[in-house]
Amino acid sequence: MISRHHTRAKILATLGPASAGPGKIRDLVRSGVDGFRINLSHGDPEERLLWVERIKRVRSEMNRAVAILLDLRGPRLRLGPLPEPIELKPRTEVWLNSGIGGPEGSIPVDYPKFASDLAPGHRVLLRDGRAKLKVLEIQGSRVRCRVQHGAWIHSNQGVNLPDSSVSAPILSAKDKEDIAFAAKHQVDFLALSFVRRAEDVETLRRELLKHEVFIPIIAKIEHPEALKNLDQILEATDGVMVARGDLAVEMGHEAVPTAQKKIIRRCMERAVPVITATQMLESMIEDPQPTRAEVSDVANAVLDGTDAVMLSGETAVGAHPLEAVRIMHRIVSKTEQQIFRGPRRRQLARGCVPLTGSSVEMATVNAAATAAVQSQARMILAFTESGRSARLVSSFRAGQHLFGLTSKEKAFHRMALIWGVHPALTRSFASATDMYQAAAETLATVKWLKPTDLLVSLTGTFAVSGTSNTVRILTLSNLATAADTKAS
Ligand code: ATP
Ligand code: MG
Ligand code: MG
Repeated sequence: MISRHHTRAKILATLGPASAGPGKIRDLVRSGVDGFRINLSHGDPEERLLWVERIKRVRSEMNRAVAILLDLRGPRLRLGPLPEPIELKPRTEVWLNSGIGGPEGSIPVDYPKFASDLAPGHRVLLRDGRAKLKVLEIQGSRVRCRVQHGAWIHSNQGVNLPDSSVSAPILSAKDKEDIAFAAKHQVDFLALSFVRRAEDVETLRRELLKHEVFIPIIAKIEHPEALKNLDQILEATDGVMVARGDLAVEMGHEAVPTAQKKIIRRCMERAVPVITATQMLESMIEDPQPTRAEVSDVANAVLDGTDAVMLSGETAVGAHPLEAVRIMHRIVSKTEQQIFRGPRRRQLARGCVPLTGSSVEMATVNAAATAAVQSQARMILAFTESGRSARLVSSFRAGQHLFGLTSKEKAFHRMALIWGVHPALTRSFASATDMYQAAAETLATVKWLKPTDLLVSLTGTFAVSGTSNTVRILTLSNLATAADTKAS
């Protein structure tokens, strides 16, 4: 059912033991989830196959667009196994070792080039930045460090080297297996951790081509180098995630809010979908209520114009996964009410022509968005094969309802994560007449539309496939016959 009160910003929820059980996925979708993320750094292949199949079953039974995103580990450094937790005390010295199986008493880092990527004076952060060490000396594969901030450390916790240029390859052997899995099971998005430059995205793109599939790539921005190379990364990628957890460890917490705003703004300018992630309702992993600061954080991401907000541990391992989704949905909804409801439909961001695509296509998209705002149309209809034209219109962040009508199932589910788009799966159409009729059939079920409501449609001609080049303003009542009334 297409609700008048749908939210524009979408919700992506990480699946985990707390949320993947039978029946739970359906409840999460009912509570407002538009897409699921499965983190490939955790769990095993049998488990994730079961989860992917479960999501596919639920979305087809519910006839709902629900995106499936798999998140690759990439060059994420982690500690090796520790026989027991170790307390690092401030002002003491410790030895870290490149790889597992170093001398007794040294702490293993699961990365063979650990010592050679470091230099004296560099910082080594353990356990998401809670322990901070400074490199004093490098001896072969071993690194002597002074503890500046202490903490208890455990096996497999994350290691960050904010001052070093880590030379680990972007894709490990495990990542390649995971990519083969994603290709085989045709997931909707593939996220890549610790992207530093555009070539990292291109490497993943080539790997996918070996499997002869196209899966849109989400580059996770969690390293300062990625921020420096943001424009080139945006040229190469299909989407972006503001991975604020590691970004905060690498750059300092205080740098993250403005980095988030900058990334989202650049993404909107280029019509690149952007997901805001990590610790959005973190306290709900344990508590049934979020903190007021967390509520503001979600609302501010919506005001920044993010396509989607994400839940991590809250839904993966939290005690209140459904409540977390419901509360997130309420925050998004309330925030957008202040912007979009009522007689004046404002735009979230200033409408601008995205810096992307061919000039014919962009002129058409610009005309559709402008026409919708000026004619106070109720709705924009983007007829789309791949979802591309819906995504381009979406980047204007206009107040009008936006329908993405497609006959392709892949595009249908991918549009679930795009700001403001109601994905609609229609029968396939053979002609323009047929296309408008299919849209009329779909919209006949929307009770809150009146026959006199104005619609703006955005289509490609059948002669030039792949590019939108036609904008029409029509009423709902003449939609069904639109193709026959060329002079209207
Ligand atoms: P990333 O940096 O990619 O976000 P992460 O380790 O922070 O990696 P998240 O996906 O953000 O992991 O999930 C948050 C927490 O939820 C993890 O630390 C882990 O404890 C738990 N988790 C996530 N997915 C799973 C899973 N499939 N099985 C078990 N626990 C999981
Ligand atoms: Mg991360
Ligand atoms: Mg995380």
